[in-house]
Amino acid sequence: CGIVGILGTHEVAPALVEALRRLEYRGYDSAGIATVNEGRLDRRRAVGKLVNLSDLLVHDPLAGKSGIGHTRWATHGAPTEGNAHPHRSGPVAVVHNGIVENYKDLRAELARHGLTPHTDTDTETIAMLAQHHLDTGMAPVEAAFATIDKLEGAFALAFLFDGEEDLMVGARKGSPLAVGHGDGEMYLGSDAIALAPMTNRITYLEEGDRAVLTRTGATIRDAEGRAVTREVRTISMDA
Ligand code: GLU
Repeated sequence: CGIVGILGTHEVAPALVEALRRLEYRGYDSAGIATVNEGRLDRRRAVGKLVNLSDLLVHDPLAGKSGIGHTRWATHGAPTEGNAHPHRSGPVAVVHNGIVENYKDLRAELARHGLTPHTDTDTETIAMLAQHHLDTGMAPVEAAFATIDKLEGAFALAFLFDGEEDLMVGARKGSPLAVGHGDGEMYLGSDAIALAPMTNRITYLEEGDRAVLTRTGATIRDAEGRAVTREVRTISMDA
């Protein structure tokens, strides 16, 4: 239900949880974060209030300066820890708002390539498809774009990859997603409020847009793959 992503210069777990707190107003049943630390993806998830996730992080911290986070409002699969986002398949982690309408068809296709789901969610299929594309030799950005091309339904997405500490891919179709511009840091968020403690320089993605983020900036392509320029607005947070 809420998405955040940070390519940071400091440990990101506390900032991810704080951004998720600012998205609590949207409602949620579980929450989670994933980071890439020393090249390795890892994640922590908890059912219920965000305090359950932050308590878990006290006992079992998650290091890393690149990360994604999610508050889930379950549509496919019960609100359990296993169904909570970020979803992971091999070297890919994904957070997702919305519904993948064709996930059953995609699952059937992936089964033919030997990939089987471990959760009841539509979202896991996105991570599995991205893993499949990586398996065929695609680079991470190419794999993410090829995955997005195959999804039907409404979504906002953020991808993170094993071995890639300076890369995050976002996409918007039917669910809002904003890019935040920091000083040597870049962000993704469901809205500007989520990113307010970190930046007020915001680019709202348009329908069908995909954004490739590194710490030096974002490149944005439209649904047809054309490079596009989107305005960077300075948001007044008391508005
Ligand atoms: N359809 C996804 C799920 O049930 C995402 C729900 C959401 O937008 O939070 O996990």
